[in-house]
Amino acid sequence: MIDYLVIGGGPAGAAAAIVLAEAGASVQLVGRARLPGQQFGESLSPGCAGLIHQLGLWPSFERDGHLPCYTHRSAWNSDELAVHDLIRDPRGHGWHIDRNLFERRMLERARALGVSVTEQRLGGAWSFHDDHWCGSLPRGGQGIRAHRIVDASGKTAWFARRQGVARVVDSRQVALIAVLATECELEDTSSLVETVPEGWWYSAPIPGQRLAVSLFTDAGVDGVREQDAVRRLLARSRYTRERVRAGQARMLEKPRFVDAGSGRLKRIAGPGWVAVGDAAMSYDPLSAHGITLALRSGIDGARVLLADSPAACSAYEQRLFRAYDAYHRECQRFYQEKIRYPDAPYWARRSSWTSRTV
Ligand SMILES: Cc1cc2nc3c(=O)[nH]c(=O)nc-3n(C[C@H](O)[C@H](O)[C@H](O)COP(=O)(O)OP(=O)(O)OC[C@H]3O[C@@H](n4cnc5c(N)ncnc54)[C@H](O)[C@@H]3O)c2cc1C
Repeated sequence: MIDYLVIGGGPAGAAAAIVLAEAGASVQLVGRARLPGQQFGESLSPGCAGLIHQLGLWPSFERDGHLPCYTHRSAWNSDELAVHDLIRDPRGHGWHIDRNLFERRMLERARALGVSVTEQRLGGAWSFHDDHWCGSLPRGGQGIRAHRIVDASGKTAWFARRQGVARVVDSRQVALIAVLATECELEDTSSLVETVPEGWWYSAPIPGQRLAVSLFTDAGVDGVREQDAVRRLLARSRYTRERVRAGQARMLEKPRFVDAGSGRLKRIAGPGWVAVGDAAMSYDPLSAHGITLALRSGIDGARVLLADSPAACSAYEQRLFRAYDAYHRECQRFYQEKIRYPDAPYWARRSSWTSRTV
């Protein structure tokens, strides 16, 4: 019997596994780091540094050449660019990370602490009796008994959903993602957001002379069905197009769509399990807060399991619900105040926000 089974090898699962292993527990993690080609540009908010330190990842993080981000630029509700300087942020600057490398380093740290990592996708039936979970690994069907389970399976919340927990979906949205190679390292390391009738563009440099460019939009909005539409859509933007042109950037791989919706589980913990990261609740990428939340909730969720107390579990759940409510109000305000294209379907849909339970 192992103490803890962690489902998912993203930032939330790896953070939870590190904390549990540091406490001396036996931990098995089922999942793997993102593969090359599955990455998109991601920014870490300044508040992340403390969490990276807490997880013992700072030395490798510093060595790995993630790019500092000192400035956010945004043309959200007007054509003018607003500049937000992180130089004045007491927590310091943010980063544009090489996400694959970041996840690999987290799993390396977990392994070094004794976590057994199985690169598979967990499936099958899991049952809880005599205060432990029983199930099996898919390949070979090897049986596992675990005292407690951490669901860190991302938005699918694979384990929690199997326990019958519903998910509140606040926004259905997709991101059309393209990674471009630039002629040289970009001087402008800001993150840039720009609204267009179809949704909004985000762009940021990634280490290794690359520029990540994403359009956040509704699946099926006119003209966004075809993946090769990136260039045509880019041409309709202003600042994003200028940035791509300035870097003489060319497409490195075929653009692809990913789910970029937001929502949360109706219950974040149950008998013998907790959900962490996107499995518990996923924010709109506009917040650029998903990885911070994944690390924070991974650490907190693991501590709740170590405490093995219903009161700690309930306090964890309430804290996350409060954080989500505050985020959701702020997000609604952003999408609904002084929008530039009130008649465009993407923005009209967001003017009357309705949540759905699935
Ligand atoms: C387009 C886009 C841009 C974003 N930009 C930013 C940004 O700039 N900054 C930021 O902070 N956040 C950003 N986010 C959000 C951020 O990526 C997520 O919040 C973060 O990845 C959540 O981490 P996680 O570990 O909870 O989940 P994930 O990273 O989704 O990891 C979950 C893992 O579990 C695995 N898994 C699922 N089911 C199983 C199973 N049954 N068995 C085993 N493994 C399983 C999955 O394969 C995956 O590897 C963005 C998101 C999107 C979609």
